[in-house]
Amino acid sequence: MTNTINDLNADSEVYKTLLESTKAIPWKIDWSTMKFSYIGPQIESLLGWSPASWQTANDWIERMHPDDRERVSSFCIAQSKAGVDHEADYRALTKDNRAVWIRDVVHVVRNENGEVDSLIGFMFDIGERKKAEEKLMRLQKELEELSYRDGLTGVFNRRMFDSVLEAEWANAQYNRQPLSLILLDIDYFKQYNDHYGHIQGDDCLKLIGKTLSAAGTRTRDFFARFGGEEFVLVLPETDEKAALVVAERCRELIFKAQISHEKSQVNPYITVSIGIGTITPTQQDKSLAFIKKVDKRLYQAKKNGRNCIVEAN
Ligand code: GH3
Ligand code: MG
Ligand code: MG
Repeated sequence: MTNTINDLNADSEVYKTLLESTKAIPWKIDWSTMKFSYIGPQIESLLGWSPASWQTANDWIERMHPDDRERVSSFCIAQSKAGVDHEADYRALTKDNRAVWIRDVVHVVRNENGEVDSLIGFMFDIGERKKAEEKLMRLQKELEELSYRDGLTGVFNRRMFDSVLEAEWANAQYNRQPLSLILLDIDYFKQYNDHYGHIQGDDCLKLIGKTLSAAGTRTRDFFARFGGEEFVLVLPETDEKAALVVAERCRELIFKAQISHEKSQVNPYITVSIGIGTITPTQQDKSLAFIKKVDKRLYQAKKNGRNCIVEAN
């Protein structure tokens, strides 16, 4: 008998040593009093609060980031009342008021009558894991953003144009609103490359991308690189007259940029040719046919001598 008690005592010493030498922080709360009956000494090195300062469940709530308090405490209380084991991630506050991400894993202990007797749990420091998660989320967002950007000019790419046009097309159909499209193509750009070199050609495209980004002024106006030396503007809820104003603004912005082009046959500076179209699409209309129509007008602008705009025939 004595031996057994000694063994038990020896065992609990072993358990205590084991518990207090792990990185996870063990704790126990008595359910009827809501008081801590135990918390591992590791808590002090993680949060700065001494084990003796953890008196009641209220201390636990107060040492939590204000934005997490309500969500976590009501969740944990409800789960405990229902007698369900649970876990929660939250930011604990250190004594010097820094936030540390914690995962608390809670086991609900019941007495012989099946009533909740106490809560036993482990707190894990998940700061590094959270940092890694947040970094991954940031990278994911960046990647998503990049996949809709043109690598050279940084403006939206053809892929984004396709999505935006599809959405605006459906919207214009539904609301019976006019939708305008402006296609722009740089004049004699092959000659520009041949004369100034491809690198300067790239710089010119970047500058034009930046310059034309300012052309559409409404929130839903959308600008993208259509491909090569062609750019596009999608103008929702915009009629012919308003679209023409934007197209003229494009020409003016490019003209003001005064990018020398010695080999252009129309102007000593870079110019663009522009096709415009406006449609209030019905269910029968297809956006591709509309783009083709506007592209034909752009082609017509080239035939008309370049550095000009062609709108509805
Ligand atoms: P037009 O006045 O009829 O539009 O003639 P153009 O020379 O501008 O048109 P063309 O279609 O004959 O040539 C377009 C040129 O644009 C050829 C191509 O090398 C150049 N280009 C397309 N994409 C890029 C690019 O990313 N960087 C550079 N530097 N040039 C590009
Ligand atoms: Mg072209
Ligand atoms: Mg061109």
